[in-house]
Amino acid sequence: MLKNALLIATVVALGVTAVAQQPPAKLFDGNSWWDHVKFLADDKLEGRETGSEGLRTAESYVVDQLARAGLQPAGVNGFYQPVKFVSREIVEKESSAALVSGGKEQPLVLGDDAYFITRFDLAPEEISAPLVFVGYGLKIPEMNYDDVEGLDLKGKVVVYLAGSTADTPTALSAHYQTMGERWRPLRQAGVIGVIAIPNPASMDIPWSRMSLNRAHPSMDLVGDEFNETAGLKISLNFNPAQAEKLFVGSGHTFAEIAELGKDRKPLPRFPLSVSLKCRAVVKSTSVESANVIAKLPGSDPVLKNEYVVLSAHVDHIGIGAPINGDRIYNGAMDNGSGVAALLDIAASWKANQPHPRRSILFVFVTAEEKGLLGSKYFAAHPTVPAKSMIADVNIDMFLPIVPLKVLKVQGLAESDLGDRARESAQAFGVRVEADPQPLRNAFIRSDQYNFIRHGIPAVKLDVGFDPGSPDEQIFKEWLTVRYHAPSDDLAQPVDRATAATYEDIVRQLLVYIADIEARPQWKPNSFFRRYATTSN
Ligand SMILES: [Zn+2]
Repeated sequence: MLKNALLIATVVALGVTAVAQQPPAKLFDGNSWWDHVKFLADDKLEGRETGSEGLRTAESYVVDQLARAGLQPAGVNGFYQPVKFVSREIVEKESSAALVSGGKEQPLVLGDDAYFITRFDLAPEEISAPLVFVGYGLKIPEMNYDDVEGLDLKGKVVVYLAGSTADTPTALSAHYQTMGERWRPLRQAGVIGVIAIPNPASMDIPWSRMSLNRAHPSMDLVGDEFNETAGLKISLNFNPAQAEKLFVGSGHTFAEIAELGKDRKPLPRFPLSVSLKCRAVVKSTSVESANVIAKLPGSDPVLKNEYVVLSAHVDHIGIGAPINGDRIYNGAMDNGSGVAALLDIAASWKANQPHPRRSILFVFVTAEEKGLLGSKYFAAHPTVPAKSMIADVNIDMFLPIVPLKVLKVQGLAESDLGDRARESAQAFGVRVEADPQPLRNAFIRSDQYNFIRHGIPAVKLDVGFDPGSPDEQIFKEWLTVRYHAPSDDLAQPVDRATAATYEDIVRQLLVYIADIEARPQWKPNSFFRRYATTSN
């Protein structure tokens, strides 16, 4: 028994090494990738908003390409898995918010000072509540860190600065900042609402652009199983440039808080002397959309019953407030580029047999931009047995905008998928690095997080840069100007050679994961390992 096991281990190890030593063939040229992006990001698709005709057109294009590539439908209704949503829109002219101090009301200008977040099911009635500043508003048991402890928060609205202290490991920081995790201890303490102040030191996009699309519909999955914020009556985002208003009379200033927050230092917690009076009028409607799922059957008679998932979101944010006269948020890189990569990779086995030993499941999800909702639904209701999904490789906005020298791997150190990703990149002469900007919380900000929460090891691959290089500036500029803006369109410069090599690396990664005997495992010290034992 032992001898055999050792023998198998040796053969597998040799097999992988042998593959890695001879450079694999390059299968992609970037041209079909760009053709797919051109279709998906065309103005005619109107930015592929969840539930829109534009997204339906994009998905029928995807289904068409998958069928042509010879993949099998693996949804509920052919390639499709229908998903139901409730859509919510703030009616700002009927809504209001004010700060109250000494019986005097100071109205807030919605949009300039603050705006309501309708992703959550806000209470329709007028609410008055005292405010308490709770630092980062986090409870992290692993670190004995607790911003809630010792404060009287019953019936109150808490104000917090987004982020965490510098000594918080990235994974913990990201995990406990998800709304579900953040809300749980606050709810237990009797809190009824939250006001978030973005940390001015780590804002991706300026306030003006954040608030521009506040009237845009938010969405939520239908079904109590998905409601992680029961009891949350008020949720506001507050402009850091106006946040002094909240601190008047408290003995503290926002300048002081922001200064500490800049270096992620511990923050004080204290009651504010102003209170909040507000009313959110929200219009709700039902929306239907779908995930698209296809299967490339594995070649091994036993292992083909296991699946390596390759996922990407198809949706984007649709039509919004105009910027430079353009209202269509095309989402060429976010995430037409990722969908295009999945289509290229899916089609690549037609002329390049054999199939990998395990099956590959191509999952195109909807409503990522609404809070990772399509993948949340899929991970809770997979169309293959839940335990048969052994890994997720997710592609979202991989940004082929510079020559590919370094690949950024979210989750690099969390599971042995990180090791496979390194081998795959090295096979094409590309280095890997962990996320150089952990504060952006990227590991939980795309669809891989829903697989992770169901115990499935995952990685997300992006084009990277060396800190301090001119490339870093290009990425920074891209985020400031094009991220979630109409200029993420077909007029922007892209590097097709980078996209091609990226696709080669991802395909190689799928083959490594699908062919190796052992299922991928979380590293013993990975925070995310907990879900592998607690999830069903
Ligand atoms: Zn996005």
